[in-house]
Amino acid sequence: MEKTLAIIKPDAVERNLIGKILDRIESNEFRIAAMKRTRLTLPVVEGFYNVHKDRHFFKDLTASMCTGPVVLMVMARDNAIPEWRKLMGATNPKDADAGTIRKDFAIDIGKNSVHGSDSAENAAFEISYFFSQTEIQE
Ligand code: ATP
Ligand code: MG
Repeated sequence: MEKTLAIIKPDAVERNLIGKILDRIESNEFRIAAMKRTRLTLPVVEGFYNVHKDRHFFKDLTASMCTGPVVLMVMARDNAIPEWRKLMGATNPKDADAGTIRKDFAIDIGKNSVHGSDSAENAAFEISYFFSQTEIQE
């Protein structure tokens, strides 16, 4: 079983979409191996998104992740990393396929409701950034 890090972003928590998003996740063969609802601080988000530090959207992205609580999850299934990105849909909801979370729930590219790791290397970093081994139970 592969593991990936998922975040339900502040725009979705704010609109009470946690349950609807968890339903999509559990209906698509993922096991939620760890989960916490918390509020991220700017330094924590800047460290998390360090790969994007030189991108033009870095400031908006990091600020938006601190506007309210988030839900952090480790999710496990076969091919969890690509399967979760498929279920999320394209980064910009305008380009997202029908039936994806971003198509159905996201507001725009900045408020796109969910995050998912994009590679095995980044998933390992992102999972360890938020969870200790003892918190993760498949
Ligand atoms: P995520 O990492 O959140 O799962 P992603 O992998 O689909 O999303 P990235 O390229 O990693 O997309 O960008 C990280 C986040 O930065 C996006 O989810 C989006 O909210 C924001 N973002 C990306 N590109 C832009 C842009 N051109 N303008 C504004 N925000 C952007
Ligand atoms: Mg990404």
